[in-house]
Amino acid sequence: MRSIAVRLFSRIEQLPIVSPHGHTDPAWFSGDEPFEDAVSLLLWPDHYLLRMLMSAGVALGSLGLTPADGAAAETDRRVIWRRFAGHFRLFRATPSRLWLDHVFAKVFGLTVQLELESADLYFDAINAALAQPQFRPRALYDAFGIEVLATTEGALDSLLHHQAILASDWKGRVISTFRPDDVTDPDRAEFVANVLTLGELTGEDTATWEGYLSALKERRAFFRKLGATATDHGHATAATANLPLRQARELFAKMLAGAPRASDAELFRAQMLTEMARMSCDDGMVMQLHAGAWRNHNTALYQGFGRDRGGDVPIRTNFTAALKPLLDLFGNRSDFTLILFTLDESTYSRELAPLAGHYPCLKLGPAWWFHDAPDAMLRYRRATTETAGFYNTVGFNDDTRAFFSIPARHDLARRIDCSYLAELVATGRLDEDEAAEVAVDLAYRLPKAAYRL
Ligand SMILES: [Zn+2]
Repeated sequence: MRSIAVRLFSRIEQLPIVSPHGHTDPAWFSGDEPFEDAVSLLLWPDHYLLRMLMSAGVALGSLGLTPADGAAAETDRRVIWRRFAGHFRLFRATPSRLWLDHVFAKVFGLTVQLELESADLYFDAINAALAQPQFRPRALYDAFGIEVLATTEGALDSLLHHQAILASDWKGRVISTFRPDDVTDPDRAEFVANVLTLGELTGEDTATWEGYLSALKERRAFFRKLGATATDHGHATAATANLPLRQARELFAKMLAGAPRASDAELFRAQMLTEMARMSCDDGMVMQLHAGAWRNHNTALYQGFGRDRGGDVPIRTNFTAALKPLLDLFGNRSDFTLILFTLDESTYSRELAPLAGHYPCLKLGPAWWFHDAPDAMLRYRRATTETAGFYNTVGFNDDTRAFFSIPARHDLARRIDCSYLAELVATGRLDEDEAAEVAVDLAYRLPKAAYRL
């Protein structure tokens, strides 16, 4: 199996990287300024690292993150890096360790293990490298073999960086993704103010349901004009709804009045998923649903340090019943694509594979976030392939904020897929030439097709 896997992998190892969903910062590619240093590049934005360090009792202030109450935080970057290095053993057998080791070795050429003793060597080598022109964002984009990279922006974003990239003579393709949670989720802080801003941006009267929907259509068109092909929705549940017009109007008015009941806010989010699907049927944007994260579970962490610091936890998720209102309307359309992601592995074979293996509009996103790791990616293939096949899946998403880890993540996903395919070949369930074709599809053709890139 190993030799088959190696043969399959050798045919896809060098394929360009298609990254249709992620959270890198478009400012990197518009400004093309050097990255600052090892700490601000590799540690601070990585919530996988922060959550594990915190679990071992490392205070985020001691890693240089300043709390909202203004309490003192460590400012010496070298001291912070040493603290991280001294705890690197925490990451043994986690995907963070695989990704970081790949970055350290392949991008920075470091050949010794990161530990307290090698912390200074790492800190100096990484910082010296970052000052070199070949470590600027655009040069790395090319060196990594990226063909297209999608970022994610809120509905009110000006997309100034994407406009600057398009206006530049650089050939890289960095596109946005329309993520409207800031104006569709009434539990977001500033929701009411955001809806007003949405009106100002578009000239629509967003105090009315019809004006609000028109404004959303307009923002989608704006994103599309700058290259976006997809939307993304980060709801805690997969609930959808199909309310009569009058009830939708009344519900929207309640949201604008502020402080809605939890059940009303949930119903509103559910209705908005259906509205987004309706708009996708009209404008062709591919829709993604990332359901099942209890965001900001750690209240003290959220109050002190804000979002995306590692305080999110997966929750049980229902798809079959939750998606029915939306699927009753649009499920049989093959010109509409809804890509589903879960943090609840128990739904792979019970709900997601049967749904995606039947409804023309549905596709399964790859193993996501907590499950984007060797064993978890294999579990995903084992649980979904026999019902959904490979062609109701969309290849790999790195979904990362950590730009330097993008090659590592794609490399890992390709290896895992090849090892799964090799098992099918070795046990006589697939011919090797078919497996080779699937390997290319998973690494390259399926993401391009699914995201209409
Ligand atoms: Zn994401």
